[in-house]
Amino acid sequence: MDECKLVNTVGYLIGEPAVLEMVAEECSELAHPCLKLARILRKENPTNASKIVCRDEIVEEAADMFICMEFLASLSWWDEECTKKMERIIREKLRRMRDRVIVDGMTKEASAWLKF
Ligand SMILES: [Mg+2]
Repeated sequence: MDECKLVNTVGYLIGEPAVLEMVAEECSELAHPCLKLARILRKENPTNASKIVCRDEIVEEAADMFICMEFLASLSWWDEECTKKMERIIREKLRRMRDRVIVDGMTKEASAWLKF
């Protein structure tokens, strides 16, 4: 069974509400090691976790998020228009981010590097 068919089958079996709950849960699972690693890097609110453990947890939860994106795209109401809209939003957000970074004053090298 290919991956797309597997996701569609599982999504059908558990139902859309459960898929949405799974996506929400995985989002929060990714947030935890990200916040923990940020604390470690800032040396704030000490934690027992190491950078390596946090990195491994982030990688695992990011993998779950990629899978969740496949589940979202498998929902009955997600169509080609949703995909195109999402791609348009991504481009727009990245463009605004680039503009903000350049306007807020970076080094010339960084600004040049960001031009795409
Ligand atoms: Mg997870």
